Amino acid sequence: MLNFRNAKRFVVLGGGTAGWFAAIAMRRLFSPNIEVRVIESSKIGIVGVGEGGLLNLAHAFERYQIPVDRFMAETDATYKWGFCYEGWRTGKEDDRYFHLFAGGGKAEWTEYGFLPGFSALIAQQLPLPSYIRGFQAVAHNAPQQEAKQMVAEGRTDIQTSYHFDSYKTANFLKTIALERGVIHQDAIVDRVELDEAGNATALIIGEESLPVDFVIDASGFARKIVGNTLNAEWVSFKEHLLMDSAIPFYMPHPFENPILVTRALAMNAGWMWQIPLVGRVGAGYVYSSKHISDEQALAEIEQKLGYKIEPHKTLKFDPGCFKEVWHGNIMALGLSSGFVEPLEATSIGQMLEQLRNFERVLRAGQGIVSEKSIKEFNQANLRSWEGIRDFLRMHYDCPRRDNPFWCDVAASAMPDDYREIKQCWQERTPRMLDIENYAINGWSGVFHVINWMFVAAPLGLISEQAAQKEVAALPQASKEKVVQLLQELPSLLGPDWRPRSSLK
Ligand SMILES: Cc1cc2nc3c(=O)[nH]c(=O)nc-3n(C[C@H](O)[C@H](O)[C@H](O)COP(=O)(O)OP(=O)(O)OC[C@H]3O[C@@H](n4cnc5c(N)ncnc54)[C@H](O)[C@@H]3O)c2cc1C
Repeated sequence: MLNFRNAKRFVVLGGGTAGWFAAIAMRRLFSPNIEVRVIESSKIGIVGVGEGGLLNLAHAFERYQIPVDRFMAETDATYKWGFCYEGWRTGKEDDRYFHLFAGGGKAEWTEYGFLPGFSALIAQQLPLPSYIRGFQAVAHNAPQQEAKQMVAEGRTDIQTSYHFDSYKTANFLKTIALERGVIHQDAIVDRVELDEAGNATALIIGEESLPVDFVIDASGFARKIVGNTLNAEWVSFKEHLLMDSAIPFYMPHPFENPILVTRALAMNAGWMWQIPLVGRVGAGYVYSSKHISDEQALAEIEQKLGYKIEPHKTLKFDPGCFKEVWHGNIMALGLSSGFVEPLEATSIGQMLEQLRNFERVLRAGQGIVSEKSIKEFNQANLRSWEGIRDFLRMHYDCPRRDNPFWCDVAASAMPDDYREIKQCWQERTPRMLDIENYAINGWSGVFHVINWMFVAAPLGLISEQAAQKEVAALPQASKEKVVQLLQELPSLLGPDWRPRSSLK
């Protein structure tokens, strides 16, 4: 059992996005007589990538009462409405599909467990964004100001997250945390002292021994405590996800406006992210080191862009997470707890979900936490990572087979759960039931089934015949709703569009 009632000091080791978010959350949770301290080293610095959020970033701003306008102004942020996948099917110029953050209202129309609106589009071989108000703004690269107005006036069915400068975001969160009474110490933590039960008693900083009651290890890839001191068990996803290297860099905007989505451009041995901020694009090539060397990767970037770049440090990683992130009075958070490649920008999203649940457990137990709660927390955290693993693996279930990388990535091991739901989609369309089990013990999961559908449908992983049958079996009133939906499409798709077949 853990007892926070007599706690005096709560320490966060690390001052990246994870560390400062954790400090803000803990400052909100604890009474002012408990010290919340961030120890980070300006000599070590932060990883400096991770510039795209998911929808739970917007929820976190709300939860922690962080003003969004101020965040946007201070971090060069832009609106992020989803992702654009370019070249993942044929590799040709016109090959692109969108994963939009569609949600709310008609996007979430559900009957008999499935989503008739999206099923009707699949039955008609239409892209899912056709149904979504606001998609034209993405496709035609509307200015940010217009997007802001559309959100304010409720003229879009797309929910908003953000692209942001990672250094400015860490600074911004630090400013907020300090304003709210978090203590900051710029120092290198040499080691942690543990008692016989494996609980942290003090952090050793040079000559100083700092007593602690709880430590969040947000030390990034250093994985200082849970990884390198406790030697926690690592669960690697490398048989399912081949990407293990990344070359980040900055580039100028390729379009007139910062585009409203993160671009994911297929490459010879992986893909390139392009994250549009106010004054620059944060970019990088993430690749499989078994298929290409670092030098070849750099050459390919420059060939693709047509100019020389100034690459940042090449990053190497083993995709996966710790089986257990919470051990006694120590918990790993952010990169320190796990990381898979940046496809779908899952890292900060998963970190925020972990943090939200940590708060929930502390709050619900009124500062008394049982071993059972910690065990369930760890199980849920691992399961959430497995959901992310399966969602990402699905992206590589794509038709490209034109070089050894795209053949190998398609042939890489499929997790059993993903294989199973994929089979079901040959008989019926996806539904929340398929992915509910990735969020257990009170967790919410990072993605909705709509997110899965926006990737599965363009990759041809959902049977059109199954969708047709499913829609045709709806009660008459619902079928009429589907017909009306299809009739509204010309205003979104242009007047020449006609339904492929009538609904019987
Ligand atoms: C290539 C790549 C692309 C990514 N893209 C995305 C994305 O698009 N979206 C997304 O959500 N995430 C992305 N991520 C992940 C994202 O970068 C991280 O989730 C996020 O930045 C949080 O990092 P962090 O705070 O855990 O670690 P860091 O930012 O690295 O912070 C670690 C902190 O620990 C401190 N520290 C370490 N050791 C010590 C010590 N001994 N003593 C004192 N201080 C110490 C450091 O000084 C630093 O302050 C990406 C990651 C990579 C590698």
